[in-house]
Amino acid sequence: MSLYDEVAALFAERGDEEYHGEPVSQTEHALQTAHFAAQAGHSDAVVVASLLHDIGHLLHTEGEDAAEHGIDTHHEVLGERWLAERFGPEIAEPARLHVEAKRYLCATDAAYRAGLSPASQLSLELQGGPMSAEEVTAFEQNPYFREAVALRRCDDQGKIPGLEVPPLSHYRDLIEGFALTRV
Ligand code: FE
Repeated sequence: MSLYDEVAALFAERGDEEYHGEPVSQTEHALQTAHFAAQAGHSDAVVVASLLHDIGHLLHTEGEDAAEHGIDTHHEVLGERWLAERFGPEIAEPARLHVEAKRYLCATDAAYRAGLSPASQLSLELQGGPMSAEEVTAFEQNPYFREAVALRRCDDQGKIPGLEVPPLSHYRDLIEGFALTRV
């Protein structure tokens, strides 16, 4: 199975599920986030990372080590691992950092924080609240910090019910182009 086919199968199976208390499905959210990344002129890597940043929510949770992880973080850990096994850091890192990027933006951009959806405001505290000054400085040292922040801003936009955007197949060549060669 090609990597695109693997991605398409995950969205076909679980993509109709609701996205974290927002008025869109997982598939709508992923496609809108990628669309906004492309529209903003971000790199192809950021577009693909945007498309796949919540892939952990589409993965099966009955993995052999499911009990090792807390319920809240399990999907994120699964998603991180899934991406890192299939793509280089230019895709895996911005996706992995999308919650930290929210905490960063809430600490550094008052308008961003004020513009968060009610569900996203609510989850902020569970995610650790805005970053401290030390955390902000440390986050800015990450080589994928700019990409993570760019992805995050698109992530927050991708919650519009009924918005018409390109389908998953539009990203087939991009996904395949960034796929690690598998042995
Ligand atoms: Fe998201």
